Amino acid sequence: MRELVDELKNIELAIFDLDGVIYRGDILISNSDKVIQELKDISIKVVYNSNNSTVTRQMYVDRLKGFNINSEVSDFYTSASITSEEITNQKQNATIFVIGEIGLKEELKEKGHTIVNPTSNYKNVDFVIVGLDKEFNYKKLAFAQNCILQGKAQFYATNSDSTLPAASGLLPGAGVMVNAVETCTNKKPLKIFGKPNPYGIQMILNHTNVSPDKSVIFGDRLNTDILAGNRARINTILVLTGVTTEREVKKNQEKAIRSQVIDKNLIPNLVIKSLLGIFKE
Ligand SMILES: [Mg+2]
Repeated sequence: MRELVDELKNIELAIFDLDGVIYRGDILISNSDKVIQELKDISIKVVYNSNNSTVTRQMYVDRLKGFNINSEVSDFYTSASITSEEITNQKQNATIFVIGEIGLKEELKEKGHTIVNPTSNYKNVDFVIVGLDKEFNYKKLAFAQNCILQGKAQFYATNSDSTLPAASGLLPGAGVMVNAVETCTNKKPLKIFGKPNPYGIQMILNHTNVSPDKSVIFGDRLNTDILAGNRARINTILVLTGVTTEREVKKNQEKAIRSQVIDKNLIPNLVIKSLLGIFKE
């Protein structure tokens, strides 16, 4: 076993973002499978935290299996599963209108909630929950508006990412749908469960019973992964295999040195070029 860098001494829990850290699209980022196995071999608990609400946790297990990484459904904390657990804490067997895809719908159904469609009676809807929906349309938007303004529905969102990285470049993210509902209701979501909010990481700490100082998040985005990690007071490591470039990190550091206004929570404890950077040279 190679020796870990000092920043990772005493770590018992490693939280990994997925896209840009473990894989990029359909391609495994080299060595991420080996690094995860090495961490597991020294009894570090490994879990995954993604803002993507469109796929189920079982689909993630299968995807990682394809990369030779073994995992269980309970290792995944997606914005859909986090939303589902938090909503269930508020109300059991609720009636919910979802702007979102199978991942979010399945997580909610599994907890016993009823998912309705835009032809249902808006008066019965307890929650409107908004996530990324590649089949988003005017009818869904109008029904969500009706449930919130004329009915009793409370408005929640899985995440507010403005963009979605894709092989072809950038696509619109969940934030676009959240903003559409905001605009036509003049209401903000009561909570947005995904990163950069710390709810998911706090849930992971609760479930695993590990203290924040013994936990670390590996992410490729400053404004989601690193921000969420710092807000939850855990250790944060930025990996330069995804969205954030070395140039952006330097620009941020220079700003901080010149004491220009910058949210300290955007600064990671450590920046590494690839996951191999967790080992001493
Ligand atoms: Mg990412």
